[in-house]
Amino acid sequence: MKAAVLYNYNEDLLIEDVPIGDPGDREVLVRIIATGVCHSDLSALKGKSRPPLPIILGHEAAGIVEKTGSAVSKVRKGDHVILSWAPNCGECFYCQKRLPTMCDTYGAAAGNGTLWNGARRLGTVERPIHHFTCLSSFAELAVVPESGCSKIEKDIPFEVAALVGCAVTTGFGAVVNDARVEPGEVVGVIGVGGVGINAIHAAHLAGAKAVAAIDINPEKETVARSFGATHFFNSATRDVPAEIRALSRGRGADSVIDCTGRPAAIALAYDTARPGGSVISVGIAAKGEMVCFQASTLPNTQKRIIGSNYGGGMPEHDFERILALYRAGRFDLDRQIGERVALDEINDAFRWLEQGVLARTLVCFEQ
Ligand SMILES: [Zn+2]
Ligand SMILES: [Zn+2]
Repeated sequence: MKAAVLYNYNEDLLIEDVPIGDPGDREVLVRIIATGVCHSDLSALKGKSRPPLPIILGHEAAGIVEKTGSAVSKVRKGDHVILSWAPNCGECFYCQKRLPTMCDTYGAAAGNGTLWNGARRLGTVERPIHHFTCLSSFAELAVVPESGCSKIEKDIPFEVAALVGCAVTTGFGAVVNDARVEPGEVVGVIGVGGVGINAIHAAHLAGAKAVAAIDINPEKETVARSFGATHFFNSATRDVPAEIRALSRGRGADSVIDCTGRPAAIALAYDTARPGGSVISVGIAAKGEMVCFQASTLPNTQKRIIGSNYGGGMPEHDFERILALYRAGRFDLDRQIGERVALDEINDAFRWLEQGVLARTLVCFEQ
């Protein structure tokens, strides 16, 4: 199959022919139709998250089931599927605790660049290629765990389904599952990017009275408002906590969602939340970075700081909810699709992402 392989950090991906093995018992071979280029791919390419090399990146994808392993019952050949980058074993401590995205089994596999049980289906024995988040969708085909496949209706466009596989669910779930935004609330969203747009949109749909988009790039205001932001504050030039207090009878935001992962932004979220309000930390900081806030204020204000992974950690459930809202014409996913490119143009997609182009570039394959 044709695949985009990363051999060295900070270099272009190489498009080449890569052997792919048959799916194991509880694995599925999926023909990728659409796959988005996301910030986590960029962090891997830049060496920030330091995945093992060589590796095939890509973790926001949808496709068609081509072949199933002997013990697979969840999907069958011809099914259309969204692929999850956090498959789970269903049996470990965290799976039993209903925290499937914390699954020990797949956490270890993703760290080692393999599938479950250390299996590898990419490359050859002499020249193995690593899997990325048990997915590796920058390729014509992918072998993934059965639990990472979610069947969808065939009328859902693959580009839409791909986006739901990462950025959309991450932003939507942060609002719905972690912030639990209620009608009439005041919500802040820091970082108007692929995830932030979905947090803004979800907060608007949840009936928030005010949705304040916060970013250092004033050019993001128009798009933020088009997805439901009622206010836009440039945190480089405005006193955001004071602005939000002015919107909330002096109290502060009911919840603030940080999608940037910048320590200063997380501290800003903390200062902006009202007493008893919550800070939802979604964006991922570079390793080793620390956040500072005045410790005595934490018990006194009863603020809550909540880490949010894959939108609260039950992605498969959220895929269904988001697609139901999309089908009802309430959640706008079509407008989030940017350029469609072929696999050999993927390095351009990374450059656009780095330049801050907001609409998602999707690598698309012939159906
Ligand atoms: Zn992603
Ligand atoms: Zn598990």
